[in-house]
Amino acid sequence: MGRFARENAAVSGLLTLAQARAAVAAAVPAPLGDEELAAGDALGRVLAEDVTAGADVPPFDNSAMDGFAVRPGPAGRALRVVDEARAGRPAARGPAEGEAVRISTGAPVPAGAGAVVPLEHVSEERDGAVVLDRDVAAGANVRRAGEDVRAGQVVLARGTTLGPGELGAAVAAGRATLRCARRPRLAIVVTGDELVAPGAPLAPGQIHNSNATVLTALAATAGAEIVAARHVGDDRAATEAALGGALQAADLLVISGGVSVGRHDHVKAALDALGVQERFWRVALKPGKPVWFGVRDGKLAFGLPGNPVSAAVCFSLFARPALRALQGAQPEAPRSARLAADVQRSRDREQAVRVALTTDPSGVLVATPTGPQGSHILSSLVGADGLALVPPGDGPLAAGSTVALLRM
Ligand code: AMP
Ligand code: MG
Repeated sequence: MGRFARENAAVSGLLTLAQARAAVAAAVPAPLGDEELAAGDALGRVLAEDVTAGADVPPFDNSAMDGFAVRPGPAGRALRVVDEARAGRPAARGPAEGEAVRISTGAPVPAGAGAVVPLEHVSEERDGAVVLDRDVAAGANVRRAGEDVRAGQVVLARGTTLGPGELGAAVAAGRATLRCARRPRLAIVVTGDELVAPGAPLAPGQIHNSNATVLTALAATAGAEIVAARHVGDDRAATEAALGGALQAADLLVISGGVSVGRHDHVKAALDALGVQERFWRVALKPGKPVWFGVRDGKLAFGLPGNPVSAAVCFSLFARPALRALQGAQPEAPRSARLAADVQRSRDREQAVRVALTTDPSGVLVATPTGPQGSHILSSLVGADGLALVPPGDGPLAAGSTVALLRM
């Protein structure tokens, strides 16, 4: 945190973003335990073990090309084809001097053949013999056993998130199942008398409940299992009942709206009555100032502001890291980018600016703000790849400045 941010936080009495994120991290209990999953069911999950290769990958020397397995030597040789090695079907014998073995990509290179000549380098094939049109170096077109991974080597470390490539590496290393962190159970409670279901006709004053859909999608990308999703009106008793049920069902509770100081905001009082201890309320952050966070018996409750952008941004900044930590995931690596446009700073709050990311010709990550950044401008989330953190200050932060980046 820079001097300016510290002074501002002190003046306003609000936590800075970094302090608030640290408070969440400190409240996350140990990972929730793990389960054994078939590799095919483990996409997006977090590994709860190191994956070690049971054998060399590839398991044997094999051909990188369709062609002929031969002994290394000069061009112009005419070789008699004596056998064939196909993928999954090794040849019965290797080539002696003056011989070749027909071979397919991926087939074991037969003993004695130190190289493979691709079909394209055979000038003639007639009467069971081939003529090589160029010199053949030892090891040419042979993929060596263990060239990818050696037996006993750690292929994937605990805490890795399993994407398609990681799953492939695990299966190639001999694994059928993987020990994965249990998915955190998440309950979503959306508050507001004005909300109606997606697609429903709008009576005067009503809006569509977009937060439920956005938060559900964000939760899925963070590895959560949604065990409850409720909408309650702005009613104290109904809010308390819904939050009480959600706390029973879930490891982590995400609430949308009702955390400000209005007459019809009941979330904080309901959580207090349910014994959820407040860790912070309000952060020197834009958007997302009213965000609330509390804990009960190792369960985490996030009161997100109802404004759609604030809700999404606060989920990404606070709830996502908690969900990831509950799965033992490796923390997000620090990243930075160059701002493509001036950004007007807030005097007393750090801003989480939605940005689209590109790479310039020199390889530098460039962050372009996604248009107007008001907390009600849902379209600022469209095409957003990340959040650029703009510290508080006077006047604009100039295009070309380097900013820290977090995941959206
Ligand atoms: P609140 O935090 O409850 O004061 O709500 C702040 C703003 O966000 C108001 O304009 C609400 O109408 C809007 N809002 C609250 N909840 C949602 C929701 N689920 N979907 C879309 N907008 C919402
Ligand atoms: Mg409300």
